[in-house]
Amino acid sequence: MRILVSACLLGLNTRYDGGDSRDPAVLALAARHSLVPVCPEQLGGLPTPRPPCEIRSGRVVSCQGQDLTDAFEQGARLAMETLKLCGCEAAVLKARSPSCGKGLVYDGSFTGRLTAGNGVLAGALLRQGIPVYTEAELDSL
Ligand code: SF4
Repeated sequence: MRILVSACLLGLNTRYDGGDSRDPAVLALAARHSLVPVCPEQLGGLPTPRPPCEIRSGRVVSCQGQDLTDAFEQGARLAMETLKLCGCEAAVLKARSPSCGKGLVYDGSFTGRLTAGNGVLAGALLRQGIPVYTEAELDSL
């Protein structure tokens, strides 16, 4: 099947710090599936590198206190459109990211603490009934 994948997991330098989160197990999915890379934060118009962001009280804020919720939501919308245009049936998204995290995200204190919740894109996909997996949940794919 076709799977939407966080671009950083496939080795693209899309992370907030300009690096990647290349994951060999995610790359290996390409032997069985068609992988469609997206970075919702770049799609939302944010630069790379960019200040780290976390979700606090339902808003996405940078470590400098800037509210970037609109950019994150726009990026999630465009990533959802990409999923539909490409016919993706599932998504593999980077854990803990304020866009891509599923189930656990940083808590908005910029201290490394995690809290229950989803990133903006992961939450939007789950609300649409699209299966979302983190890079630690690939066994069933
Ligand atoms: S928004 Fe998602 S794809 Fe982009 S760098 Fe962050 S975790 Fe990776």
